[in-house]
Amino acid sequence: MSTITDDYVQKHPTSLEYYGEAREIFPAGVTHDTRYVTPFPLYITHASGPLKWDVDGNEYVDYVSGHGALILGHSHPDIQAAVTKQISRGTHLGSNTEEELRWARAIKRLMPSVEKLRFLSSGTEATLMAFRLARAYTGKDKIVKFQDHFHGWNDYGIAGSVHPTAGVPRAVQDTMIILPIGDIAQVEGVLSRDNDIAAVILEPTGAHWGQQPFKIPEFLQELRHVTSKYGVLLIFDEVVTGFRVSPGGAQERFGVRPDLTAMAKIVAGGLPGGAVGGSGEIVDMIAFRGDPDWDRKHRVSHPGTFNANPLSAVAGATCLELIASQPINQRADSMASRLKDGLNEVLGKMEVPGHSHGISSLVHVTLGKDCDCDREVCTMDHKQIKDTMRPAVTQALKCAMLNAGVDIMGGRGFIVSATHSEQEIDLTVGAFEEALKAMRSDGII
Ligand code: PMP
Repeated sequence: MSTITDDYVQKHPTSLEYYGEAREIFPAGVTHDTRYVTPFPLYITHASGPLKWDVDGNEYVDYVSGHGALILGHSHPDIQAAVTKQISRGTHLGSNTEEELRWARAIKRLMPSVEKLRFLSSGTEATLMAFRLARAYTGKDKIVKFQDHFHGWNDYGIAGSVHPTAGVPRAVQDTMIILPIGDIAQVEGVLSRDNDIAAVILEPTGAHWGQQPFKIPEFLQELRHVTSKYGVLLIFDEVVTGFRVSPGGAQERFGVRPDLTAMAKIVAGGLPGGAVGGSGEIVDMIAFRGDPDWDRKHRVSHPGTFNANPLSAVAGATCLELIASQPINQRADSMASRLKDGLNEVLGKMEVPGHSHGISSLVHVTLGKDCDCDREVCTMDHKQIKDTMRPAVTQALKCAMLNAGVDIMGGRGFIVSATHSEQEIDLTVGAFEEALKAMRSDGII
């Protein structure tokens, strides 16, 4: 009887060959940490809607969804048309454009807390700028963040994240206060004792889009209340949740208005891009005031070669206009709900302990432990999840799902787009059953 690894190696000979060269060129052979897969990652040639194909001709239902950037699926015809037209007009005009205005209008229409904004090239840049704006506006240095919440790989946002890193100066780390999520008394205690805090930032549906959950929306409302009370800014990192968990993001869905919002992924319609927006007064820390002394001492400067690049602008505007005018989010949500139900049914049928949960179109699966959560916000804490979803389990699930024709995000996530149909969802549920059988046969579950 062949193992998951045997099948994986046998199905992907060309990817194995490419990985041999890649290991000589890229650290760990990959270009993004989460693309690292043991025994080797796959090489994808092209994608369309919910599907993608690898160099060995295998077809996959894709749930990486461009690391969450694609709610319209791959190569949406309107995005293709918009980008193709823009390429012939210029990829960098080195000037202001009509396209950036259209893009900003589309964001403001969906997210009313965004009175003013600036464009950047990624989520990492968006949180970096949000921190700097908060510090400049309040005149304070420290930022409170929550354990395991991910805010990109900049020196500040990476502190206390699920991706620990070397190479961050101690002085920078000391400006970040890392708290456990969900304990408002602890947050208030810190804000009341330390008068040097500029902002509190969080992923509003939990670390890594819904892990290590907390009471939503209660905790978000409590955070809004205590930050306002102590004159501290509230930053929502809506890089993943923005334009996904509702057309206006988590802030619309849960009715909490942050002072600043970091955006990326969907905001740029599948191209590189990000934005930071919010209160006009705060974002205007970037504005020139015409007072050389003030500008030199207090202004936040903001260059950036690819800010508001016109390709991202047209892709982003096209995507957000579709979200505003069509039931894109509802469609992705309803397919995700069908997926969650299907995964839970398979676990029950096969008597494998575990469950699937998730908010909106962001679905997770946990093997080894069930809980009595409502299947949206899970009640298991991160330590319990990590203990049961050990690397051996996530690796096996990732490879077994690939063997069965499905690419999941990391080792336990499914990011659903509006192009996933009943057919792909049902195929995925079947693939999950096959994967569990293979894992059982390998003695992993
Ligand atoms: N914030 C969150 C919540 C994210 O998930 C990510 C990326 N996965 C980022 C920030 C960083 O975005 P980027 O990868 O575009 O730098």
